[in-house]
Amino acid sequence: MLALKLYGKEDLRLVKVNVPRLETSGAILKVGATSICASDIKAYVTGARTKIPIILGHEFAGEVVEASEEFKDYVGKRVAVNPNIFCGKCEYCLQGEHVLCPNRYAIGIDVDGSFAEYVMIPGQAFKVGCVHEIPENLSYEETSLTEPLSACFRGQRKLGIKPGDIVAIIGAGPIGIMHLKLAKAAGASKVIISEIDERRCKIAEDLGADYVVNPTKENLEKKILELTSGRGADAVIVAVGIGQAQKDALRIVARGGRVNFFAGLPAGKEEVLINTNLIHYKQITVLGTSMQTPYEFKKALDLMASGVIDVKPLITHRYSLGNGAEAFRVAMKAEGLKVIINP
Ligand SMILES: [Zn+2]
Ligand SMILES: [Zn+2]
Repeated sequence: MLALKLYGKEDLRLVKVNVPRLETSGAILKVGATSICASDIKAYVTGARTKIPIILGHEFAGEVVEASEEFKDYVGKRVAVNPNIFCGKCEYCLQGEHVLCPNRYAIGIDVDGSFAEYVMIPGQAFKVGCVHEIPENLSYEETSLTEPLSACFRGQRKLGIKPGDIVAIIGAGPIGIMHLKLAKAAGASKVIISEIDERRCKIAEDLGADYVVNPTKENLEKKILELTSGRGADAVIVAVGIGQAQKDALRIVARGGRVNFFAGLPAGKEEVLINTNLIHYKQITVLGTSMQTPYEFKKALDLMASGVIDVKPLITHRYSLGNGAEAFRVAMKAEGLKVIINP
């Protein structure tokens, strides 16, 4: 089969490899659609992955074509898969906070992923509730976005977005836009987006942002205060991996507000000088979230199936596996939002 394999820093090759072999427990999935994540680009740029070479790809959906005895019922079914495989037994998994599981590993990150015609799903994924039949009204392409949407869903669940909240989102990439849609669905009275790229400002506006601020043209803090009667935003989501954006978040959040450092910072740039008195005197809650529990993944799928969240407008580019290099080039240039690979 064809696969996009990462061999090291900026070394992604389209190769012919064997179709993965079924293990004693698990299934083989024929990939229906898979999408490029910012973390795939990060892996491409840095060459950093626990396993090298590796077939990348962790946002995907497909059809089960083969399964071990215990999962035979899934054969022929279209499924969405949470790529994170949890142990289900540690203290964190028992608490329902699977994302903290020290035994976690992920498809496309630690083992071969979905930028291929077929991908192997370990039996443990079925056992901990990470495999779901796709509702009839959802396509493979839409379903491949369950993974990033569910990570955003977790971020907002932890932030506790309530009806009437004014939410500020820094960054209007695919993740920022998903946060915009989720905040609207949660009843935010105003969603304000900060974005430096003009094309993405326009997209955010078209997709329902109440206000879009370009901080290279306007003073972000001043604008936010203006839009919130001088209070600041109740909740701020930092959806870009830039230290300055984290600093800005502490300034634009209201007293008693909540901030989520949703995006990780690049290696070597993790240390940010922040004014901790803002946290102390404004009594702000600052938190971070990443990944998603099996529950959050299922809820994100439900939100798409019920039509509450429509991810179709986020899909701006489609490529075949053979044109994978071009797909990566486009995703890196951030010309659109989500880039899908249809093997
Ligand atoms: Zn991802
Ligand atoms: Zn665990």
